[in-house]
Amino acid sequence: MSGQAAPESLAAVFRRLIANTGPISLMHYMGEANARYYASRDPLGSGGDFITAPEISQMFGELVGLWLADMWINAGRPQPVHYVELGPGRGTLASDALRVAKRFGLEPEVHLVETSPELKHLQLANLPQARWHHDLSTVPSRGPILLVANEFLDALPVRQLVKTAEGWRERMVVPEGERFICIAGSQPMDAAVPEARRAAEPGTIIETCPGAAAVVYEVAGRLVQQGGAALFIDYGHDSVQNGSTLQAVRAHQKVDPFINPGEADLTALVDFATLAPVAESRGCRWLGTAHQGAWLQALGIDARARALAEAAPDQAEAIESARNRLVAEDEMGSLFKVMGLAAPGWPRGAGF
Ligand code: SAH
Repeated sequence: MSGQAAPESLAAVFRRLIANTGPISLMHYMGEANARYYASRDPLGSGGDFITAPEISQMFGELVGLWLADMWINAGRPQPVHYVELGPGRGTLASDALRVAKRFGLEPEVHLVETSPELKHLQLANLPQARWHHDLSTVPSRGPILLVANEFLDALPVRQLVKTAEGWRERMVVPEGERFICIAGSQPMDAAVPEARRAAEPGTIIETCPGAAAVVYEVAGRLVQQGGAALFIDYGHDSVQNGSTLQAVRAHQKVDPFINPGEADLTALVDFATLAPVAESRGCRWLGTAHQGAWLQALGIDARARALAEAAPDQAEAIESARNRLVAEDEMGSLFKVMGLAAPGWPRGAGF
């Protein structure tokens, strides 16, 4: 025997598991698929599967850094202070944000929460001073935190409930031919549906993300305890909606989420309408949920784009096109939202 055997495909693992123990929940399917997906590759950039705001332009991370520095200065420059990022990808946002923060005297300890060994390796090259964490529990609990999560919550697994003639059921996954399909589970799930939403047409789907709620709950609790502020940036909606938003992207194309699990990035829209009250339930302040385009403009992206273009005239067109991708209504400007949280007594924050 020589060399390493290729790992068994996740599709094969699921088929075996389902044959032995019955249907798996969609939440289980999505969680395992993304764990496999992120563990094995760098999905970002033009040669990868998708591109994110910090990879489009340095302006994104710079304005996030400016926002954090402004909060910290107005809070009286507390020390020690921790920069915490959830799911930092290549570390691009953190390096752009920290470069700007340093100009304002903000040089926090850097804590990165990342589960993917492959991405951790890339982050190490960009941020040699950082400390890594598998989850938030090991991040220091003394000193305010300035926390950022961009396109992190959308990768956490969603649970879907479907209204059937017999009541609400969880959506479960089973194989069918070459692919997988969703069926309604056999256990009654009516108790999991908020009373106001229980009476619905058969076929109605409700999607929730327990992982996102748990993360926001934990972050809000820490802000109240330690001080600080947080930005959650993601594609999502700010009013309650029905329906499945699960999607899969591979090589910049939408693909079927139920073929080749673990080979494409699975995401769902973030339900910001549900997350704001979760934060407030801990005594944390919700600063608002702004559209990304309006927020970046309030922070001064137009002036920053002009300054960059003047410094590098041959890049002017590329800079303008990047600015446009980040702020235009028909690009990322209104689909992406920025949710701001702050500890009691901390400032209101620009752009909300
Ligand atoms: N924030 C980066 C990357 C977004 S991709 C950017 O904007 O470019 C999602 C990131 O979240 C990746 O770094 C991925 O490895 C990480 N991630 C996904 N699920 C995670 C989990 N459960 N715990 C910690 N990190 C996770």
